[in-house]
Amino acid sequence: MERLIDPKATIAVIQKHQFQFQKRFGQNFLVDAHVLEKIIQAAGVTKEDFVLEIGPGIGTMTQALADAARQVAAVEIDKNLIPILRETLAGWDNVEILEGDILKMDVKALADRYNGGQPIKVVANLPYYITTPILMGLFESGVPLDRVTVMVQKEVADRMKAGPGTKDYGALSLAVQYYAEPYLAANVPPNCFMPRPSVGSAVICLTAHREKPVQVADEGLLFRVIRASFGQRRKTLANSLHNAPDLPYTKEQVQQELERLGLPAGIRGEALTLQQFAQLANGLYGLAGGGPGPSAGTGEEPADGRKERR
Ligand code: SAM
Repeated sequence: MERLIDPKATIAVIQKHQFQFQKRFGQNFLVDAHVLEKIIQAAGVTKEDFVLEIGPGIGTMTQALADAARQVAAVEIDKNLIPILRETLAGWDNVEILEGDILKMDVKALADRYNGGQPIKVVANLPYYITTPILMGLFESGVPLDRVTVMVQKEVADRMKAGPGTKDYGALSLAVQYYAEPYLAANVPPNCFMPRPSVGSAVICLTAHREKPVQVADEGLLFRVIRASFGQRRKTLANSLHNAPDLPYTKEQVQQELERLGLPAGIRGEALTLQQFAQLANGLYGLAGGGPGPSAGTGEEPADGRKERR
């Protein structure tokens, strides 16, 4: 079976099937063998592994994953790609092509079916318009995860691995780092894709923590506190939390908790570590009104208005 990882082979498949790229599905197909190799290596896939691929496109990465893994399930939303995938993956009997929207799929059931409920590997060149909901959905829904290796917009990769006090640090950094250890495996320029995206890309590896790095009484409260802290970046933490519609605390209560933690009353959210956010959330939990609410998520849109494109 012909390997697709070169621009010529990709063009041939596209022309043969008269495939039209759908911008709304974030379709930018990988056409660089070196980058593909880096992804497979970073993902650490072995013949023991079940791999979930999100958005296989015409099956370029799927072929390489099928060579490396025991079993692959590839979820593709674009029904026009399904007959193409059947053809390009015909040479592999360890690939299941599933038509559907990953955001509506029961990934936990897939992990049960294909991997006996054991931690799975996820590998994807993600559609950038839904990077955050896909990743947060995976982490929050309790899917057993080993490692998630994904191509994302460079700017988003930077935010995922950013630490306190930097411009990229925010709700996404904290949410990702609560669940996983991020590692930037490669920077990828636009000319590695067809068509070329308007933004730079990066491959990021998120290795799931076996044990959460912090213990909190209420995860939902932790993430409401984090979201509120970065919702109004230039305000002090005490003002931001006091103004948040989904938090019941007075400015004085927040300041008291900050003082208890040895932090200045006028501190901003961007200065706090995940550990400090957890301590703050646990302190607030002890006060009246800190009941349960919606969990994690990052509010998706970064507070400073930067958008995820592609
Ligand atoms: N993996 C291929 C590659 O590397 O060449 C294609 C990557 S392309 C950036 C993203 C793929 O995700 C496209 O095939 C697109 O149709 C698919 N996609 C977009 N939204 C999706 C969704 N909600 N669920 C599943 N697949 C989706």
